[in-house]
Amino acid sequence: EREALKVFKDATPRRADGTVIEVAANIGSLEEIDAARDAGAMGVGLFRTELLFMRHMHLPSEDMQAETYAALAKAFAPYPVIVRTLDIGGDKPISGIEFPQEENPFLGWRGIRMCLDRPDIFKPQLRALLRAAVHGNVKVMLPMVADVAEVRATRALIETCKAELAAESVAFGEFQLGVMIETPAAVLIAPALAREVAFFSIGTNDLTQYIMAADRLNPTVAKLNDVTNVAVMSAIEMTARAGVAAGIMVGMCGEAAGRPDLIPEFLRMGLTELSMSPASIQRAKKRIAELSA
Ligand code: PEP
Ligand code: MG
Repeated sequence: EREALKVFKDATPRRADGTVIEVAANIGSLEEIDAARDAGAMGVGLFRTELLFMRHMHLPSEDMQAETYAALAKAFAPYPVIVRTLDIGGDKPISGIEFPQEENPFLGWRGIRMCLDRPDIFKPQLRALLRAAVHGNVKVMLPMVADVAEVRATRALIETCKAELAAESVAFGEFQLGVMIETPAAVLIAPALAREVAFFSIGTNDLTQYIMAADRLNPTVAKLNDVTNVAVMSAIEMTARAGVAAGIMVGMCGEAAGRPDLIPEFLRMGLTELSMSPASIQRAKKRIAELSA
């Protein structure tokens, strides 16, 4: 089957109406670039930056981050690479960040919430991304967004970073800003969010756990953790509708994006980017080709 799928590696998948569907890779380190390219990834739809922060005994410097994001952008140019800003919470400790003891870390101080409270951590990442944008097609997305105010506060911080870089005569570029849709609140305010950002990326792993109120790591409630539950599929459709109506790109980077049984539904809803583990890419391209044939 692997051999038979290889013919789809370099295919450009299109919807029946001709719209290109970007099949991209979810990766978490530069070491995974080759596997993603060999699989035929049309860019990166989710670069998880957590590993960069977890690997070392100290927080990664701005320079080290800028080099990493630039190398990623160069490897896939002209395809986009979507870098997700730090999405860490009390369930995954990092040396250099003190986390409070929380009863419910998944409902606590994580993702964009933590970053906005810690500009000493967030600004170096944003500055590194602005610097890397010179070297390719960098896009940036924010995890765990639940309120428009979080996007606006991030934009203000990005403007501050640009002003500082300019004053220091450091070269930087522009990047598109998007949000992950992975909280029920984000789904409900999707029309308002769509006016603020360039793209949505639906994170079905967290969206499922939060819509169903079922911990994604708890085997006792695994049955509820089902992306095909009608409640979750409705949330995905509401998100897609809001994004399409506003004319922004709607993608998906949760595990569900690579499921051949669900891809027809996602395309029908209007998604134009699907990001998945490299191992799923050729099968997804094949599925899309079958659908438009
Ligand atoms: C998601 O929540 O669907 C997602 C892609 O992010 P992560 O699995 O890293 O939380
Ligand atoms: Mg998530």
